Amino acid sequence: MTRSDRFKEKFEFFADALMPGPYQCFLCDEEDMIGDDGLCDDCRAKLKYYPNPTCLAPLDDITVGLQYSENIGSAVMRFKKSGQKEYAGFFTQYLSVPKEWQADILVPVPMHPVRKWMRGFNHTELLAAYLSSAVNIPYSTRLLFKTRNSAEQKTIKDPAVRRRNIRGSFTCDPRVKGLRIVLVDDVFTTGATVYECAKVLKRAGASKVYLSAVTSPAH
Ligand SMILES: [Zn+2]
Repeated sequence: MTRSDRFKEKFEFFADALMPGPYQCFLCDEEDMIGDDGLCDDCRAKLKYYPNPTCLAPLDDITVGLQYSENIGSAVMRFKKSGQKEYAGFFTQYLSVPKEWQADILVPVPMHPVRKWMRGFNHTELLAAYLSSAVNIPYSTRLLFKTRNSAEQKTIKDPAVRRRNIRGSFTCDPRVKGLRIVLVDDVFTTGATVYECAKVLKRAGASKVYLSAVTSPAH
């Protein structure tokens, strides 16, 4: 192998490493007809937007982007469990913060530090960071904390047990007083977690607590 062959081989390696791979649909891995939204025509046609979610106190209002489906569920798993961080940008396009909320700050639903350390990142922090630059509202990970490492909500079916499991798991900074806060989450299921977050924030004097979530199964 000549010196120039070796150079070429090296260069090609770098070219391959730097070139983005073929674009794939975020939901089915199809490589054809991918739009700016990261979806193929088929998946886009099947996508269902979420109807008006029901909001109960202490939350003041909720927006949910997509109706939950098997495809969406496995995309969420790729994002939070397999650490495919490119899903943050994909999911953020389905998060919204209505103007009338007059939100002061976005707050990701916190993860216990031990779990975050084990997983390497908190996916809701990434969503909040992306959403923050999309809607031009700051976000903070220093206002709400998960201080008790409760069992994962997903593993519990009974809503009453879910509520008990999460009770007393969060604390917040007194600086939340008077703020209009938007909680950012991926999946809104029974809401036990976000209602508990809202309760803690309201007790500390937050003036409004909203939720912006990517997806939710039909309620
Ligand atoms: Zn697709």
